Amino acid sequence: MYLLITIDTENPYKDTPMEDWIYCNFNGECFGIERIMNALDKHGIRGTFFVDVYERYNSGNEKIADVCRLIDKKGHDVELHTHPVEGNLSDMPFEKQKEIISDGVKFISSILNKSPVAHRAGSYMADLDTLKALKENGILIDSSNFFEVSPLGITKNRAIFYDGVFEIPVTYFHVPFKPIIKLIGKTLGRKIFYNGNCKYDINWCSLSGLKSMIERYRRADVRIVNLFMHSFSFIDEESQFINIHDLNKFEEVIAYLKNLEGINFITMREAATRFQSDLSFKKYILNGNDKVPLSLFGVDLHKFIRRKYV
Ligand SMILES: [Zn+2]
Repeated sequence: MYLLITIDTENPYKDTPMEDWIYCNFNGECFGIERIMNALDKHGIRGTFFVDVYERYNSGNEKIADVCRLIDKKGHDVELHTHPVEGNLSDMPFEKQKEIISDGVKFISSILNKSPVAHRAGSYMADLDTLKALKENGILIDSSNFFEVSPLGITKNRAIFYDGVFEIPVTYFHVPFKPIIKLIGKTLGRKIFYNGNCKYDINWCSLSGLKSMIERYRRADVRIVNLFMHSFSFIDEESQFINIHDLNKFEEVIAYLKNLEGINFITMREAATRFQSDLSFKKYILNGNDKVPLSLFGVDLHKFIRRKYV
């Protein structure tokens, strides 16, 4: 089984400095991308950072170029995340999507001298036109498909090859009593676990959930799993204090997964290379199962109590 650590690297609140949500420095200590990379480096693991390069229209080119350079220099993977100023990709016609993706590809290429090979749409808002636009921009992998959330509902938990692009979906599981959760969410005005679809996410799952779900995916024969996080996963969005609970959880689960037999860590760039050069890898990944496990105990109740669902 292959495991990707993917980190959406972005500033969700444009009226605050991007540094607060990407570097997340607090009292001289870093709790953002550098902290994530250091924790991964300890175990020789490389993460894939989907960088929202459109943040440069808010914060300036140099700041975002520095983010890309830092991640790349430390040996981690910089890929494209699209939160265009114009809104959601899937609300735009094909030509506009193509233009926006091209803008991001050119920016990353000019900074790192290599083109991104993978993409994740902001808020999962990709559609079939997005895949076409990615293909035309030379991007081989998309990872926007969060089933029932993304307009791109072409798979659940299985990676597929669709219209010239490999879709490695956002891995998730079902929470029981979905209709009840939907109703509670509606009453509270919140989308609780996206109406019962829980991402395999550092902030959404408990430590035991993160550990047990990997076994559930393995048993279900899901062959490539996305462990999802954000550059600001260790910041509590409401209080803006450090979320030590989730930081500890991350460090513990990384150590646990690293020692687990049969788990192969991979980056999007490595996956793209192997899709093109290693037929047995490609066959293995694409012939997995599309199962969605059901679990109540995987979710982190801390998040339920303290935080909004984003
Ligand atoms: Zn995003």
